[in-house]
Amino acid sequence: MPAAVAPADAGAVLHGIGVGRGGAVGPVVTVARPVAAPTDEQPPTDRAAAQESVLAAFGTVADGLLAQSAAATGAAAPVLKATAQMAQDKALRSQTLARIADGEPPVHALDAVIETFEHMFVSAGGYLAERVTDLRSVRDRVAAEILGVPAPGVPVLTEPSVVVALDLAPADTAALDVDQVLAIVTELGGATSHTAIIANQLGIPCVVRARGAADLVEGTTVAVDAAAGTVTLDPAPQVAEAFARRAQVQARLAEDTAPGALVDGTPVALLANVGKAADAERAAGAGGPDGPAVEGSGLFRTEVLFLDRSDAPTRAEQAEVYAQVLRAFGDRKVVVRTLDAGADKPLAFASTAEEENPALGVRGYRLRRTVPELFETQLAALADAQQETGAVPWVMAPMVSTATEAREFASAARGHGLTTVGVMVEVPAAALRAREILAEVDFVSLGTNDLAQYTMATDRLRGELADLIDPWQPAVLDLVAATATAGGEVGKPVGVCGESASDPAMAVVLAGLGITSLSMSPAAVPAVRYALAQHTTEQATAIAVAARAAPDAPAARAAALALLDPTVVEVLALR
Ligand code: PEP
Ligand code: MG
Repeated sequence: MPAAVAPADAGAVLHGIGVGRGGAVGPVVTVARPVAAPTDEQPPTDRAAAQESVLAAFGTVADGLLAQSAAATGAAAPVLKATAQMAQDKALRSQTLARIADGEPPVHALDAVIETFEHMFVSAGGYLAERVTDLRSVRDRVAAEILGVPAPGVPVLTEPSVVVALDLAPADTAALDVDQVLAIVTELGGATSHTAIIANQLGIPCVVRARGAADLVEGTTVAVDAAAGTVTLDPAPQVAEAFARRAQVQARLAEDTAPGALVDGTPVALLANVGKAADAERAAGAGGPDGPAVEGSGLFRTEVLFLDRSDAPTRAEQAEVYAQVLRAFGDRKVVVRTLDAGADKPLAFASTAEEENPALGVRGYRLRRTVPELFETQLAALADAQQETGAVPWVMAPMVSTATEAREFASAARGHGLTTVGVMVEVPAAALRAREILAEVDFVSLGTNDLAQYTMATDRLRGELADLIDPWQPAVLDLVAATATAGGEVGKPVGVCGESASDPAMAVVLAGLGITSLSMSPAAVPAVRYALAQHTTEQATAIAVAARAAPDAPAARAAALALLDPTVVEVLALR
């Protein structure tokens, strides 16, 4: 690995886009990417020696995984053990050795055998099909061992660490051992890419698009400041102290667990975005004995359950997870979003033919056209969870563009016995036709991440265009305003569940536009609650008007800050 920003560069700072407001200091653990078989890999000159070194590679991988499994706790231990057993598989080894004996280059031989096994596993279905991920993991580790490069994937963390990667797949992020991850830094990605969102949801400080991150050397101590979007190498001791002070302010704000509201009493429900049952349990339990910190969940991203799978979870499996989430929140509201796959969240079993513009293609609710059975199973599973728990979930579909789609979704969901049905407003067409859409459903929720992407014609994964995709863009605010106005006219709830809801200054603007609930990473709730509680409806409306009158995103934010209560600006500065 190149030592471009090695410890010699103490104090050097990498700049990226921060996600969340935390900060952490700790040692770098790097995530290597899988290596492909070299195109110029040569047939072995000494076949017996090549066989021996491949056998040794299998052995090293199996031993390493077994050792990691013995040291791991929780769910990671059996997973590592099962993968180790696969690396010990006799058939896998002997078929690879046989191909090398026939003169095939080692990594090519390994890939050919793995491919055969993959086909076998997938056609066997069930448990074996689910083991394909393990098979690939063995392949990537053995190939790395043969080629003498670092093993790919998120390594098992043995101490609290800063995970650094070129990029992380959402499934990798979802699988992280959160107790050992101090922060995440990636060279690629964007603030609203799903990896960043998952990290934020878990309250893990994250800096994406940090140039030079991929060159960071394992073990280097870094300070990751999500609020500033910086990664400092070998930081001064005061940095950790400043992070601790910031955490204290957060903790003080978190003592207030009153329901979200403007100072004149106008309610703005504060909700948590969750992706897994464990997130729901954590979010629902936050606030401690003085009362819940969140009033429910405004976005349960169900796709997290589907992401790292080779086939769809069954109705029973889904029902169990949905029931866990509903149970976690008890009688609090839970908005369950139907599967939002496609584009930056590809699924092995639901991907369509190669699309040139996947963000504009078959994603979200549109998957109902290509894999209707997935959709039906999910609604049935949610209805099962409703029956089992006695809780009444709200359900909404992502990426709805027309009132007709809203009507069709509502009819399908109600057909399953789900009574509170809504859609997400993420496409400008839906915002412009919010009145017609609201005539079909009980509520809408603005996904400002995608709404900004589609309004500004800017890929949310392209961090270098972050200035355009900013939710402070007045055009985005106009579409939020149009949707909120339509909701106000018909008296139906209009929430925001995109990342913009977690910005305290933006939260005041959204309240001023007439938004009725804000759903965000639970860690963001205290500062948002505080910001809302410092303003009246009249003030929030005036702040929103000023932001919308600005020519661009920085000007809109500056206009809002100029009118915000100064103590809120202080809290913002501390983030
Ligand atoms: C959004 O687009 O704002 C949203 C909440 O959905 P996701 O980020 O999961 O696409
Ligand atoms: Mg979205």
